[in-house]
Amino acid sequence: MEKIRRKTLLYRTKVEYGNFCLNHVLGCSHGCRYPCFAMKNAKFHGWIKGDSEWWCNPKLVENALELLDKEIPKYKEEIDFVHISFTTDPFMEGYPEVKEMTLKIIEKLNKNNIKCTVLTKGIYPKVLTDKTKYGSGNYYGITLVSLDDDFKNKFEPFSPSINDRMNALKYLHDNGLKTWVSIEPYPTPNLVEQDLMEILERISFVDKIIFGRLNHNKIVSEFKDKDQFFENCVGQAIKFCKEKNIGYHIKNGTQKIYNSDTEKIFEASIK
Ligand code: SF4
Repeated sequence: MEKIRRKTLLYRTKVEYGNFCLNHVLGCSHGCRYPCFAMKNAKFHGWIKGDSEWWCNPKLVENALELLDKEIPKYKEEIDFVHISFTTDPFMEGYPEVKEMTLKIIEKLNKNNIKCTVLTKGIYPKVLTDKTKYGSGNYYGITLVSLDDDFKNKFEPFSPSINDRMNALKYLHDNGLKTWVSIEPYPTPNLVEQDLMEILERISFVDKIIFGRLNHNKIVSEFKDKDQFFENCVGQAIKFCKEKNIGYHIKNGTQKIYNSDTEKIFEASIK
């Protein structure tokens, strides 16, 4: 695996439900075709030179742990939690070096009494249940926008199967860890016909759900009733979460009237 070195790692994120974040890999092997906003953003800012093939050949930040040693004392008072990650996948398929580094990062943050929210389309390793290394205050999440394998194979071509992803998350839940699901970017029916309730029922064991619409996609923009469709989805998701006592947040821009009350979805419970 290619390696790079960086000058900084931790940063305050602008994502509304985040606090601090780190991305210890440049690129991501999952090659999502929604499209991948992280890749688009990196291209827009000139941080990467190549196309999606380049992006799918990830580069590990080899000095990530050294950077954390310097930055944790600097930011500790400001950090409520660290999100891993918004612009790459910490448990991406096919790169054991990434998994190893992610585990070391979580361990280091937890040893410094800093909790993490983690998000992946990959498979969580069972070792995360080892309480001598990893705290029990972290929130482990997966992205899940469809139960349809054909959709997954087309839009998340190199990520693990939906069932494997969910089973790994359920294992962490069954072993007493906190879990969440990001149902984002949720597609319109002209991309995949599906019932949101089916997805919600399958993940009813989790502690938190975040729902957000798919943007920047030509086919979605062609769906005539898209705004009403997403309003209905939001209504379903909120009703479901309230009934099951699951914390939730609806991403900004998903419904007509944005409710910022639930932005602190993790902060409120993680302390
Ligand atoms: S998992 Fe995330 S970062 Fe990786 S390709 Fe998919 S959208 Fe991009």
